[in-house]
Amino acid sequence: VVLLRFAPSPTGALHLGGLRTALYNHLYARRLGGKWILRIEDTDATRAVPGAVDGIRSALEWAGLEYDYGPGVGGPHAPYYQSERLDLYHTYAHKLLDSGHAYRCFCSADTLAATRERLARTGSNATYDKACLNLTEEEVMRRADLIFGHVKDAHASLPTDPVLLKSDLFPTYHLASVSDDHEMGITHVLRGEEWLPSLPLHLDLYAALNLKPPHFAHLPLMLNRDGSKMSKRKGDVQVLDYQRRGWEPIAVLNWLALAGWGTAASPSHTGAAESDTPPPIPVPSKKAKKAAPDSTAVMTLNELIHNFDLSSLTHRRTVLDPNKLEYLNKHHLMRIAETDEGLTALAEKVHDVVKAAFPTSPYTNVAYIKDVISALEGRIVNIRDLPIYGAYFFLEPYFQGDEAIKMRKRLDDVEYRTVLESLIQRLSLEDSTKWSEDTIRQLLQDEESKVGLKQKTFMSVLRHALTGSSAGPSVATIMKILGQDRIKERLKTALA
Ligand code: GLU
Repeated sequence: VVLLRFAPSPTGALHLGGLRTALYNHLYARRLGGKWILRIEDTDATRAVPGAVDGIRSALEWAGLEYDYGPGVGGPHAPYYQSERLDLYHTYAHKLLDSGHAYRCFCSADTLAATRERLARTGSNATYDKACLNLTEEEVMRRADLIFGHVKDAHASLPTDPVLLKSDLFPTYHLASVSDDHEMGITHVLRGEEWLPSLPLHLDLYAALNLKPPHFAHLPLMLNRDGSKMSKRKGDVQVLDYQRRGWEPIAVLNWLALAGWGTAASPSHTGAAESDTPPPIPVPSKKAKKAAPDSTAVMTLNELIHNFDLSSLTHRRTVLDPNKLEYLNKHHLMRIAETDEGLTALAEKVHDVVKAAFPTSPYTNVAYIKDVISALEGRIVNIRDLPIYGAYFFLEPYFQGDEAIKMRKRLDDVEYRTVLESLIQRLSLEDSTKWSEDTIRQLLQDEESKVGLKQKTFMSVLRHALTGSSAGPSVATIMKILGQDRIKERLKTALA
């Protein structure tokens, strides 16, 4: 069985980097027919933010990344909060003590801080002087009655013996992560690059505990286009920001996936693979490299799963280009709008925005908005922009804008009036029950030859009168949506 985990610390809202990690875990688990766990790493009470778990869960839900086991879902590895698994970490800590791979440290917090300072002054990159490494057993027993101190792993390759269990009996990340990954039966760990330096320690812990480590891959840092680290100050990094600003979740996932594709992970083997075990994470090699999808390929979640391949990822850092999100969002909108269900969902999503933008408009019901979306898809980048691109569907056209004035100047006055007057007459003879885009097209063709104008000029006149705008969907589409009465009204206003 393939089992992965996404293991955020509840220290705040989910960021794009966290969402990318969750996404890759999801894609890889599904690609291999496996499952994944949401595990909450809440062992550092000082950094916990109230409500953070709810925020993370709702961000995952918005994104459509469904974990198989975890908070709210349950599963065979419960509990899924590390703060509820302390006994387990104590068991592991004792195993390490018993086998001599760890020792108790009784230094006070002040002493440890002073040691750290002293070592730093000498230019050492150690942070602890192993003062308690060689205490006698009697000394340890005597002091352990008073306080169960720091437990440290003694490893030669590390400058300092890292703390595994703190005097408050909470584990540090290392001990908790290793214990849980083993206990839960995690087969593959996909996590951020910032954890790569911890890998030697984690492998040491597995070895000291005589356990088989999972396979590891570390996902490279995500950067802004200018190469700077993504940070809150520089713009939107929270998943919630993208949700609020109306981006389609699948477009955001597609964007994150492709940003890493062909430019991502640094896999590291543990050498633990056996024949009946899940496949190890492949090391990227030039030869084995499967063609990575185009960096703008528009893919649904299932298509992402199908195409996901860690071996097509390389070590380079991931740059997120906002223009690509716009491109992907626009194309996903078109795909979503292909089905009536998708179109309805989009209309419902933007309903409040439209109502807020046009509080006096009588044309803001969901069915009408669906028609407007259909007309504008392929032009709108973000569904929340609908009121901007499509204002004239909701309000009377605005003829005083620069664009409308310029356009009007180009259209010869005599022709302008002729076209509109003729159409008004014609419309009063039309049967409104036979009003389809086809009959409208036919009508426009008749009118065009009647007034003897070039199609381009003819359409420009109508577009101006109906919308006050120089670009947009076809005039027939606009007329279909507006309906005869509103068209007549607008033509008359334009003539006045
Ligand atoms: N709790 C760690 C984090 O928030 C998880 C690291 C891991 O996946 O092992 O990044």
